[in-house]
Amino acid sequence: MKALVYNGPRDVSVSEVPDARIERPTDVLVKITSTNICGSDLHMYEGRTDFDKGRIFGHENLGEVIEVGDGIDKIRVGDMVSVPFNVSCGHCRNCEHGLTNYCLTANVDGVAGGAYGFADMGGWAGGQAEYLRIPWGDLQCLRLPEDAKEKQNDYTMLSDILPTGWHAVEMSGLVPGETIVIYGGGPVGLMAALSASVKGAAKVMVVDRHPDRLRLAEQIGAIPIDDSKGSPVDQVMEQTGGRGADRGAECVGYQAHDPQGNEDNALTLNNLVASVKFTGGIGTVGVFVPQDPGAPDELAQQGKARFDFGSFWFKGQQMGCGQAPVKRYNRHLRDLIAENKITPSWIVSHNLTLDQAPEAYQHFDARDDGWTKVVLNPA
Ligand code: NAD
Ligand code: ZN
Repeated sequence: MKALVYNGPRDVSVSEVPDARIERPTDVLVKITSTNICGSDLHMYEGRTDFDKGRIFGHENLGEVIEVGDGIDKIRVGDMVSVPFNVSCGHCRNCEHGLTNYCLTANVDGVAGGAYGFADMGGWAGGQAEYLRIPWGDLQCLRLPEDAKEKQNDYTMLSDILPTGWHAVEMSGLVPGETIVIYGGGPVGLMAALSASVKGAAKVMVVDRHPDRLRLAEQIGAIPIDDSKGSPVDQVMEQTGGRGADRGAECVGYQAHDPQGNEDNALTLNNLVASVKFTGGIGTVGVFVPQDPGAPDELAQQGKARFDFGSFWFKGQQMGCGQAPVKRYNRHLRDLIAENKITPSWIVSHNLTLDQAPEAYQHFDARDDGWTKVVLNPA
């Protein structure tokens, strides 16, 4: 089959690889009809991880079931399914508590948490390919309604970024009528903004600097905050009568740019602490890694963020963080899409073939104007 493989930093190609196939009775085989490029792919793409050459990218997968193992009894051939990016077994101590983001079985490296096409998360093949093997298929596959093909650009957000954005807002503790500031207007930040609106936020502010991304935030009623035009913290204070936002969400990660040119690998976290009110809450889904060998200074190389814990403590704030447990939210979010209550496809900038993926990676990595969310359609 054809698949997008990693050859080295900023070097990917579409190559012929062995076909994905049923390997265990609990596997499901999916023909991929849409698979998205994500900011998380860039950690591997840019060469900041130990992702092995020859491995297949892709953790945001949707497609048609074409074969099921003998142990599968719920999912049927012909079903259109969304696949959570977390690989999880459903029966370990963590999965039994709903923590499918920290499955103890899915990670052969002995670390909790598995994912398709990811470094350090179990070595599972990704779905930027013609076919994908889904382990524990009955548990993993979320069956989609009749309109799956018609609304594919909406349902495709269920495998990762929509539940992730929702999780960020959930962890922030937002209740209706509160204000929230979201750092990062990329696909994840925009999904957090959408989630906050659906959850009844009185005011949603999105910080970024790319005009196209800020425009998308504005389209759903959020207030765009351009950090190239001045301190984002000051702008949030202006918007909130000097009180700070009730809640905040971090949707950037350790690779945040610093308009001042300093190498601050916790810039967005520190801006959040400063932008959020005393006793407010913060949800952090942007990725902070245990090690960042490519970072400019030694502390950052060890993965240590320069987080201002003193101010965080003094303000009595709370924070949740980590990979999102997609299964906790994806069926509710599917039903909101099915009932036309949300249309996350508004951020899709490109539908491309698998062969066009290498070019798409270049543009998305460069944050080129207009390249917000790329959906690859192998079939
Ligand atoms: P992205 O890189 O396209 O978006 C990040 C955005 O942040 C960009 O638009 C960039 O301009 C903006 N940004 C950079 N520095 C900033 C700063 N100092 N202040 C404000 N904005 C700034 O990526 P994405 O796909 O939206 O993903 C965002 C992060 O979320 C990544 O770290 C990704 O790995 C992570 N992620 C986490 C999970 C999870 O489960 N926790 C799931 C998916 C993605
Ligand atoms: Zn993703």
